[in-house]
Amino acid sequence: MKHGTLQVEMLTTGPFAVNTYLVGCTRTRDAAVIDPGGQSDTLLDMAHANDLKITKLLLTHGHIDHIAGLKEMQKATEAPIYLHEQDTTIYTTAPMQGLFFGLRVSQPPKANRSVTEGEEISIGEEVALVVHTPGHSAGSVCYYFQSAGVLFSGDLLFEGAIGRTDLPGGSNRAMSASLKRIVDLCPDETVVYPGHMGSTTISRERRNNPYLTGSWW
Ligand SMILES: [Zn+2]
Ligand SMILES: [Zn+2]
Repeated sequence: MKHGTLQVEMLTTGPFAVNTYLVGCTRTRDAAVIDPGGQSDTLLDMAHANDLKITKLLLTHGHIDHIAGLKEMQKATEAPIYLHEQDTTIYTTAPMQGLFFGLRVSQPPKANRSVTEGEEISIGEEVALVVHTPGHSAGSVCYYFQSAGVLFSGDLLFEGAIGRTDLPGGSNRAMSASLKRIVDLCPDETVVYPGHMGSTTISRERRNNPYLTGSWW
């Protein structure tokens, strides 16, 4: 899918069906992977087929489903890993999280860069604004490509639903504030690529999502 000069390819990976995204600048061929959840070979093939070079690995948060393919992906690309500091603990305890779900998860490589609220990350000539959106986890972030009109919402906002708030670091109050922030920040036509399930738009969610229409909070 192309949004202006931003190319977005999606692959659903792993036992929790997480959406892994390959995001590239069509002018420079520079690219990032958001939430590498597995099937690294397929992702690398996709990058190759689209003539995209993966130079960054961006995480929306530290849960195992979103990082299960990280080790392989970093080995293949040597790209730095970006994570919000407040998810460091859940990130480094991923093998324990895995055991809880009966999954074997290897220790993730050390995160290289700490992303912060308001930071801008360049992917070629495309720019992702980091929006700190706690609620699902303390260090959850969204990556907002303002000029392309595209938001990667992680496990904050789904089509017709939101991320759970009952896991460690989760907070209903923070979730509510983060949702409001995103809806205020992103115009109606913004395309939302969430961490699970299909893509949507801010306008569709504003009208139909029970967590945004005010009937829930
Ligand atoms: Zn999660
Ligand atoms: Zn998830």
